[in-house]
Amino acid sequence: MRTLIRGGAVVDVDGARRADVLIEGERIADVGNAFDVSGADVFDATGGLVIPGAIDPHTHFDLRVGAVRSADDFETGTIAAACGGTTCVIDFAGAGREPPDDALREWHAKARGRAVIDYGFHLTCTSVPQNAADARAHFEWMASEGVTSVKLYMAYPDRLMVDDETLSRAFAAGGETAVRVSVHAEDGHEIERLASDALVRGDTGPTAITRVRPPSVEASAITRAAHLAHEAGGSVYVVHLSSAAGLDAVRSARREGTTVLAETCPQYLFLTDERLEGPPDEAAGFVCAPPLRSPTDRDALWAGLADGTIQVAATDHCPFTNADRAHGTLAKQEHWRTFARSPAASPVWRRASRSSIRESATAGCLSNAGLTRSQVHRLGCSASITSRDPCGQARTPPWA
Ligand SMILES: [Zn+2]
Repeated sequence: MRTLIRGGAVVDVDGARRADVLIEGERIADVGNAFDVSGADVFDATGGLVIPGAIDPHTHFDLRVGAVRSADDFETGTIAAACGGTTCVIDFAGAGREPPDDALREWHAKARGRAVIDYGFHLTCTSVPQNAADARAHFEWMASEGVTSVKLYMAYPDRLMVDDETLSRAFAAGGETAVRVSVHAEDGHEIERLASDALVRGDTGPTAITRVRPPSVEASAITRAAHLAHEAGGSVYVVHLSSAAGLDAVRSARREGTTVLAETCPQYLFLTDERLEGPPDEAAGFVCAPPLRSPTDRDALWAGLADGTIQVAATDHCPFTNADRAHGTLAKQEHWRTFARSPAASPVWRRASRSSIRESATAGCLSNAGLTRSQVHRLGCSASITSRDPCGQARTPPWA
């Protein structure tokens, strides 16, 4: 099958230029002009930008969280992603402390035959074998299953949190096997302490989450994780970085010689904690973890993206319906009652400007989770492409 994307401005690592893209099967066959289009399906991208399909390396489809479940599954979630110009997602397999092979089997079953775009999995990791050789073998097994990244939680003691020894073993095994080790960096013990204090004093509304999960718990966890990674000879990828203090912790760790990668999310770039004020049921829709921050934090994250401190923008897409948000995460209740039982979720990326798309693609950032600069829009590469008009409306071609 031949497909021609005609009339758009192709944006890639070489910059933006007017060109057509010819696709044979699922590969880019040529980029240029005046192609023989006989027999080709033609997609008119006139007036649009033709850019590499984005990779979203942080989604939670069909995820059970207590009594509720994230509202998008692999079908609706990937259709939504395709409509926004994302052509690959990497979802987190595992909902708790289940064995990793069970989690992987379950996630394959959730995705198989339902996803409309490419997908991959990270594994949520709640234990690592004590013995270094066994830990290495465990990580090698994951890689042999196509899973080359794991996430460990430094928060949620009841469901997911690991201790420093486990983290350390993961960093060591990751360093030896090239499996990427990412962390949810918030100090879970400190959050528990602040949360019980808040509940005792009746501070239970949506704004309380900013006091229970302040930037300091993020920054201290990043510093601790980076230290452990450094000692173990590994590196660390910080998911959903949300604060200026966290960003400073990333910079400090790098100055000390630790390899730290950082990811932030649209909710921290576009929204601030003022959304948590107002009627509690409405504001509960903006509860997420880490929580929304101040305008100063938001501005620091934009600066961090601009200067390269932050490498990745991902969604942390984990939506809940209004009904589920109102219900909360406990089974035997009819209302979320306190911030601690409101399902935390993320809003949606609405738009990126034409100039930021152009700059990102030129810098090789749009597909930074999986493709290297040289792979973006190169001949012979997988044709994961999206077209976007200048006002931010994605126009994803039918094969995406
Ligand atoms: Zn997440």
